[in-house]
Amino acid sequence: MMTGEQYIESIRSMKMHIFCLGEELETAVGHPILQPALNSVKMTYDLAQETEYRKLMTAISSLTGRTINRFTNLHQNCSDLVDKVKMQRVLGQKTASCFQRCVGMDAMNAVFSTTYDIDRKYGTDYHEQFKKFMIYCQDKDLTVDGAMTDPKGDRSLPPHLQTDPDLYLRVVKRRSDGVIVRGAKVHQTGICNSHEVLVMPTISLGEKDRDYAISFAVPTDTEGITMIIGRQSCDTRKLECSCQDVGNCKYGGVEALTIFNDVFVPNERIFMNGETKYAGLLVERFAGYHRQSYGGCKVGVGDVLIGAAALAAESNGVAKAYHIKDKLIEMTHLNETLYACGIACSCEGHPTPSGIYEIDTLLANVCKQNVTRYPYEIARLSQDIAGGLMVTAPSEKDCQNHATGPLINKYLAASSSFSTTNRLKIFRLIENLTMGTAAVGYLTESMHGAGSPQAQRIMISRQGSLEKKKGYVKSILDIE
Ligand SMILES: Cc1cc2nc3c(=O)[nH]c(=O)nc-3n(C[C@H](O)[C@H](O)[C@H](O)COP(=O)(O)OP(=O)(O)OC[C@H]3O[C@@H](n4cnc5c(N)ncnc54)[C@H](O)[C@@H]3O)c2cc1C
Repeated sequence: MMTGEQYIESIRSMKMHIFCLGEELETAVGHPILQPALNSVKMTYDLAQETEYRKLMTAISSLTGRTINRFTNLHQNCSDLVDKVKMQRVLGQKTASCFQRCVGMDAMNAVFSTTYDIDRKYGTDYHEQFKKFMIYCQDKDLTVDGAMTDPKGDRSLPPHLQTDPDLYLRVVKRRSDGVIVRGAKVHQTGICNSHEVLVMPTISLGEKDRDYAISFAVPTDTEGITMIIGRQSCDTRKLECSCQDVGNCKYGGVEALTIFNDVFVPNERIFMNGETKYAGLLVERFAGYHRQSYGGCKVGVGDVLIGAAALAAESNGVAKAYHIKDKLIEMTHLNETLYACGIACSCEGHPTPSGIYEIDTLLANVCKQNVTRYPYEIARLSQDIAGGLMVTAPSEKDCQNHATGPLINKYLAASSSFSTTNRLKIFRLIENLTMGTAAVGYLTESMHGAGSPQAQRIMISRQGSLEKKKGYVKSILDIE
């Protein structure tokens, strides 16, 4: 397995095409806006080296028998599924941000079982090819970006009826040695600091959308791939070299609009090519795993926010007030409910025909549906507890200025147990998590990541077994 430092150097050695704030970058490494995202992914490597976390952060490869980072694991049983959620919670606690490596892990597991099913139906050999790709990722300990979401143009139209056919990623040419693809993937989490991108279709597809039923993996510095970094609220504070004002200057997440402009994909890296009937299954499997993920990662970040709210209350001198204690209880209750859902859908997992385990889909969708709501309520309560300084506190530079610093110290002092600087740092972290750069990961990603709320409601309605439930009533009441 790679060390954290080796991971950073491996990304530095790649020649990706990254644009950020109107400029092309040589590399994401060292850029003030992007480095925190690299630091978060680095944590997934660092913890795997630590004795305390080694058991949680690693697994034995089902393909090679070698020890691998859990982020490249194919889940072999329910215990693997549970450990995945526990690992994600720890990483949320350590980084207070999106650590980006989950999307690829969820994509790997979804593509593994789906290629097995496709091969059984059509006699193709995608699964063997995908196994080779998996062994490569496991042995090299790679970070893989999971790319599902297309720009989608007019949402009421299928891919082939869009005015611009490139609004969904598609095959534009089939050759004897591979395919040429064109299109884009939006909101790509951590792609500028990933080694590989694993592409999947974004929706169920009909026969006329055959060219859109494509899944493949290529290195992120493949010719034709361009990444345009998305803006996050307050992102340019990171350019001001003030750690205090950023709130969490060590860790962060990043997303990018990623263009595939006539990218060549060799045959051995193609895992679906025209099998439209399996696009929906792949989407559902990926979404299921990813909806489980949020029952771990967002809970870890929630732990940090609850801790920050408790410290803010102490620094304000209100920690003993009944309503503050009650709000912290409510935040904990909401956060642990999310965790309970993440653990429950893992414990109730089952094997797929390929042998690897998937989560209980209904419970994973319930998990994600709660995730679209509870972090917002936890954020609201943390803002209530913090008070207005969270958004009106002066800058770090004003704290350091000899004319204003002493005034800030005098007038923004509260509990004698906290220096004014530490008090402001806590407020800034709450600001960062609830409305700054980290709110992208903690809130908006909770809403739309792994599918918008309605997507889960559709799955819940499909799996809610209403007929069975009506049957219980009929049987109790002796109704035919
Ligand atoms: C921070 C963040 C990180 C992300 N990371 C990744 C990633 O790493 N990889 C990846 O592949 N994706 C990623 N996503 C994408 C995520 O899966 C999508 O945002 C999600 O699927 C919603 O798609 P959309 O953003 O295009 O919104 P839309 O699909 O436009 O949804 C907007 C609203 O319109 C509704 N809607 C959409 N289509 C229809 C329709 N046909 N009929 C009725 N209502 C409709 C939705 O329910 C929703 O309410 C990320 C998203 C975010 C916000």
